Parts: sequence; C-alpha cells; structure tokens
Amino acid sequence: MAHDPNCIFCKIAQGQIPAQVVHSDTELIAFKDIHPKTPMHLLIIPRAHIESLQQVDASHQEILGKMLVLAPKLARENGSPDGFRTIINTGRVGGQEVYHLHIHVLGGPSSVGR
Ligand code: AMP
Ligand code: ZN
Repeated sequence: MAHDPNCIFCKIAQGQIPAQVVHSDTELIAFKDIHPKTPMHLLIIPRAHIESLQQVDASHQEILGKMLVLAPKLARENGSPDGFRTIINTGRVGGQEVYHLHIHVLGGPSSVGR
C-alpha cells in the first residue's frame, strides 16, 4: 500500500503517531479530530495515501463508497445517532490542510439544530 513518509495521516494509519482510533480495518481507519469543532468530530481516511478528492479516478470508487458507508455507523456509535454533517475539503480553494484524503464527520447531541 502506498504511503507518504512525510504524511501525518499515513503515520496515524501505520500506528507511528497516536490517535484516538474509533475504527480500523484493512482499508480504512477513523479517529477523533485533534481539534474537534463539534462534540463528535471524526475523520475517516483510507490507509493508502491519496492526496485529495482531486486525485481520485474510477479505481477509487469502491474505497470512496466504503468511506461514506462507514460514516453513519461511526456517528451512531460515537454519540450522534440523529444525523451528522460530512465535509471533504479539497485543495487550496477547498481549504485543505492535510493532504491525505479524509471525510470529516461532525455531530453530537449539542450540535442538533445548527
Ligand atoms: P482539512 O485538511 O482542512 O480538512 O483539516 C484537517 C483536519 O485534521 C483538521 O480538522 C485538524 O484538526 C485535523 N488534524 C490534524 N492533525 C491531526 C492529528 N494528528 N490527529 C487528529 N486530527 C488531526
Ligand atoms: Zn498519507
């Protein structure tokens, strides 16, 4: 699997730096955002290094589907059963800070109604 040795999310995926992991399988890992913007703020990432949504093609359809399918399950399991917000920041214009594809999953009880 392709990893970028300078990528912080690759390091998390490989267990080289710590994170509060809420899901791990052969293809995906999900963990709590270090600066949560809502009571539940998770990041779902592929283990393989994909820079952003700008770099994807038809070969990524399955992994992208798996990332999205995981979101409601993790929201339910992490205190946001009544819905959540998903965000994918892409590239400079999208305000992307970490160049390893990730889906933000935001929610939690006190974000209801926002
Ligand atoms: P963005 O690339 O703009 O979608 O945002 C990157 C997100 O990664 C931000 O919400 C950061 O708080 C989060 N983040 C950066 N470093 C870490 C880390 N080591 N562990 C968990 N979350 C992180
Ligand atoms: Zn990476």
